[in-house]
Amino acid sequence: MSITGIKGMNDILPGDVETWQHLEEQARKVFGAFGYREIRVPVVEKTDLFCRSIGETTDIVEKEMYTFSDKGGTSMTLRPEGTAPVMRSFIQHKMYAQDPVSKLYYIGPMFRHERPQKGRYRQFHQIGAEVIGVDDPKIDAQVLAMLSHYFQTTKIPDVVLQINSLGCPECRPSYRDALISFLEQHIESLCADCQRRYTTNPLRVLDCKVPGCREATVDAPAMLNNLCIGCETHFGQVKEHLSALSVNYTVNPRMVRGLDYYTKTTFEMVTGSLGSQNAVAAGGRYDGLIKDLDGPDLPGIGFAIGLERLALMLGEQSIEPPRPELFIATLGEMATKAGFAMLTRLQREGVLVEMEYTGKSLKAQLRRADKMKTRRVLILGEDELERGVAQLRNMDESSQEEVDLDGLESRLLSEILDA
Ligand code: ATP
Ligand code: MG
Repeated sequence: MSITGIKGMNDILPGDVETWQHLEEQARKVFGAFGYREIRVPVVEKTDLFCRSIGETTDIVEKEMYTFSDKGGTSMTLRPEGTAPVMRSFIQHKMYAQDPVSKLYYIGPMFRHERPQKGRYRQFHQIGAEVIGVDDPKIDAQVLAMLSHYFQTTKIPDVVLQINSLGCPECRPSYRDALISFLEQHIESLCADCQRRYTTNPLRVLDCKVPGCREATVDAPAMLNNLCIGCETHFGQVKEHLSALSVNYTVNPRMVRGLDYYTKTTFEMVTGSLGSQNAVAAGGRYDGLIKDLDGPDLPGIGFAIGLERLALMLGEQSIEPPRPELFIATLGEMATKAGFAMLTRLQREGVLVEMEYTGKSLKAQLRRADKMKTRRVLILGEDELERGVAQLRNMDESSQEEVDLDGLESRLLSEILDA
């Protein structure tokens, strides 16, 4: 039996890959203008990095990580997200010593062992951005302005920015206790998972997709109504800056994120068009994370965009392959050699030129040229080569002329590059 790919890990084929390139190029352009620089970190890290940052009681760490021992017995994990590896790298290379503010972005695959379905895969891709070193609410607003701008420039339809605040170590513990007491009173209505985890990670109950849990928690206290003065002020200023920057948003007091490191501002870009896989980007502030990872006490904020979900939203229309400018059809060995040399010279000039490599009949060559939707065909025969001429056919105008080989390449080049 032939070998197939791994379930939940997709190939991105030509025809689809152009959409991905567009999404990536646009990110580089937009993030570049906002002062972000790319960082590339490995896809594998020590398991501890994720346990300590994402949190032992989260879905990701409890059930979704691809963890294995390498030959030396070290426990390693395929990265389920990008923030922890970027922070690990930031600390390891003392990036804070070079500049008090770091703006970084990354693009690449992430791995989570989830049930594959539309918009949810085991290898998926994220574009993420992080700002380290500033806790001013202007930065929260700017990060959100950049994210919204990215969605506008990539023409992703129908997305809404939802924001919330998850408080800080000052106000979250007492809220957490209040939430646990509330959940205790509604324990029978919760699903088995939530009954198990409501004391270890009560916020996760608010995020549970089971309808019974949603109903039972409609009146649960919200973090947003229990913020300390500092968090409340911060959130108020974020909202003011967003309005001043004309960034549309709604406040969603129920939003909790599936990673423990978030503090204060959290957010999601949500769409109505992808069923239950409705979050296309998500992020928030993580002011304690770098210190928790034994780095300096620096604040941070960032987000990750799910590329598969964006590609789905841009539609499934496959993009046509690019049209060759020229197809060189040849007859006889000498002409083939001359044609092959010309092909390579033009390709080195950056022009898309094709030919047939295996001595097919002229008819077969022309059929292939037609199939490729080439703009022109150059027919090069043995006799013509001796006379220093060839036939140049314009496929769009169905016209043909005899041309001098002398000077032909520069003529073609200027015609193509001028077009
Ligand atoms: P969800 O609630 O859909 O599981 P999440 O909260 O786990 O998402 P994050 O960890 O915040 O997601 O990741 C940010 C983005 O990455 C998501 O908004 C989504 O677009 C994308 N993403 C997350 N997990 C997957 C996956 N398994 N397959 C495809 N995209 C994903
Ligand atoms: Mg998830």
